[in-house]
Amino acid sequence: MEKKNIDWSNLGFGYIKTDYRYVSNYKDGSWDEGTLTTDDTVTISECAGVLQYAQTVFEGMKAYTTEDGHIVTFRPDLNAERMVNSAKRLEMPVFPEDRFVQAVVDTVKANAAFVPPYGSGATLYIRPYMFGSNPVIGVKPADEYQFRVFATPVGPYFKGGVKPLTIRVSDFDRAAPHGTGHIKAGLNYAMSLHAIVDAHNQGFDENMYLDAATRTKVEETGGANFLFVTKDNTVVTPKSNSILPSITRRSLIYVAEHYLGLKVEEREVLFEEVKDFAECGLCGTAAVISPVGKIVDHGNEICFPAGMEKMGPITQKLYDTLTGIQMGRIEAPEGWLKVIE
Ligand SMILES: *Cc1c(COP(=O)(O)O)cnc(C)c1O
Repeated sequence: MEKKNIDWSNLGFGYIKTDYRYVSNYKDGSWDEGTLTTDDTVTISECAGVLQYAQTVFEGMKAYTTEDGHIVTFRPDLNAERMVNSAKRLEMPVFPEDRFVQAVVDTVKANAAFVPPYGSGATLYIRPYMFGSNPVIGVKPADEYQFRVFATPVGPYFKGGVKPLTIRVSDFDRAAPHGTGHIKAGLNYAMSLHAIVDAHNQGFDENMYLDAATRTKVEETGGANFLFVTKDNTVVTPKSNSILPSITRRSLIYVAEHYLGLKVEEREVLFEEVKDFAECGLCGTAAVISPVGKIVDHGNEICFPAGMEKMGPITQKLYDTLTGIQMGRIEAPEGWLKVIE
């Protein structure tokens, strides 16, 4: 298969139209058989549920070329499961998990020419999503839905080297205690846009959100979970019902325990104890782990020992091991890699 003529290592994180996408429609209580299409546009009613009341959920994952030349995706079954939970919380029909995985496989296979080659650092980002498509004006769930999967090649996250982030403690909240923080819904992002634009205007890379009820506990950023490392090398990650269950974070915790022999604690993390940690990172599909160099709380700075030039040593080991697994250089736990071709 001939690859597209793309300068892979200079790609950013932007949308590039690929050849095929998957579409399935839900009507009269069931999903149709679904198909790949070359049509990159969506035509829906001006009154569609998604447009009026934001009834939409999504997923984000990647396909990689491994060292031995296979195209794989990473734990797509967990994305399928998470989308089921997201859909249920927004009163949307469930897209069956096996069909979700098959739709991802079909979309990646059809766009194999866009999967960046091994060693380029680039990957194929995959975006499954679902939205209410029929007219809804009185507030209620839609009756008809569309499920789609598209893919777009994205560049290496740490292009030009690792740059630890400077983040601020946000005065805005991300999620209410019994709200929708734990599901991957567009609505959580719509309301985070003001906070992130404001953070950027003030010179910060990201917002650290605290729990909305007490503002004493660490939750997550707009799109990534926190991992901390204590001075005696225990990996600590915040536990809360209002954070999004990151697949990367869950995988890194497994790697910490089973590959690196580290102690792991998933527990409530008080903001007050953050100054005592040795390392801090943000985990998500996009970067795997982005190191945090500095956290600013209304003028008070917490600076982590690794500084603003490199990852801390444990963060680096976690990063190297998980990316090694994804790229097929390190043996993966059973079921983690789905070989596409
Ligand atoms: C998607 C997402 C993450 C990261 O999850 P991954 O499965 O690791 O990509 C973290 N936080 C939020 C709010 C997210 O939407």
